[in-house]
Amino acid sequence: QEDPLTGVDNRRGFFRRVQALLDRRDADAAPLHALLLFDFDYFKRINDQYGHPYGDVVLNVSLQCLRGVVGRRGRLARLGGEEFVVVCPRIGGANALQLAEDMRAAIGALVFPDAPDGLDVTISIGMALFDGTRCHDVGSWLRAADDAMYAAKARGRDQVVVAQEVSQLLTHAG
Ligand code: GH3
Ligand code: MG
Ligand code: MG
Repeated sequence: QEDPLTGVDNRRGFFRRVQALLDRRDADAAPLHALLLFDFDYFKRINDQYGHPYGDVVLNVSLQCLRGVVGRRGRLARLGGEEFVVVCPRIGGANALQLAEDMRAAIGALVFPDAPDGLDVTISIGMALFDGTRCHDVGSWLRAADDAMYAAKARGRDQVVVAQEVSQLLTHAG
């Protein structure tokens, strides 16, 4: 249940943990659970320019950094490739958004070992709260976070996008 490259949960570990979370009563009671799904930007280019082994270093160093940033606010897992997720039980919208922004900023500022000239590592993050309606099971919740992540890519990458209904809730809540 652990990813050998980065030491975070693998896909199977993620699904077990998140299903157990949703199986509890009042899974959609406030403060809400959040998923922060992220993918590295232009990672093919990093592999092409600096080599696949250096790409592995970038992934490993990034995930060690993010472990520190996330701390007890959530749990990291690798979904596949260079796509990862943080499960944050009972974090609430505002704190989840703050964590996503902390993660994005930390990767943008991270100094990599023996960094080659021109190395620029950023991530795009999609956030979705488990609201019990639009997100009502693991699949729909993950899809909402994934859609938001693709919106972050489309808007120019290196940014956080919140799934739509959630962002409306946050606006209403001020
Ligand atoms: P985008 O910003 O749209 O995400 O562009 P991208 O180039 O990152 O595109 P995409 O996410 O589709 O590409 C993922 C690349 O990451 C392709 C694959 O070779 C590489 N990759 C996936 N897993 C690993 C890994 O464990 N190590 C290394 N070095 N590369 C990996
Ligand atoms: Mg990518
Ligand atoms: Mg990818």
